[in-house]
This record gives sequence, structure tokens and C-alpha cells, in this order.
Amino acid sequence: MIVCPQCKQVKGVNLSSKTTKCTGCGKTLTLEKLKIYYETESQEKLRQAIGLLNAELDGKSVMFKKLLHDKHESKRKTI
Ligand SMILES: [Zn+2]
Repeated sequence: MIVCPQCKQVKGVNLSSKTTKCTGCGKTLTLEKLKIYYETESQEKLRQAIGLLNAELDGKSVMFKKLLHDKHESKRKTI
């Protein structure tokens, strides 16, 4: 998941691709030059993360940070 540096459009991308075209402004973006905000194999989680990051960029939500935190936490085993 990346954010277009030109128009701030949040976009899910296949990280095995080298470039992607922004759905917001049509600019061709080179993935290795961009910050990868979130990585997931799950389309469902990707959609969720895009929604949360959009809210985060608007300054309306801390949920995106919580999501990343939860992802980290889930690697620990609970007894
Ligand atoms: Zn754009």
C-alpha cells in the first residue's frame, strides 16, 4: 500500500511490480522510490488498511497506528 506523493491518493499495489499508475492523478509511480505504508497478503486487510490510512492522513483517526500495533502484537504467543 502506497500514497501518491503528488495527489495523496492511497493505493494498494502488487509489490512484485516495479511501477504502478496512480488512480487519482494518472502519474506513473516507481515503487522503490515510494514509502510502503503497509504490506499484507489479504485483500480484506488491504481494504481495511486503505480506509484507515485515508482517515489517518486526514488527521481524524489513530486507528491505522492501532492496526500496525495489533499486527505486531499478533506475532506473540498468548498462553
Ligand atoms: Zn496521484
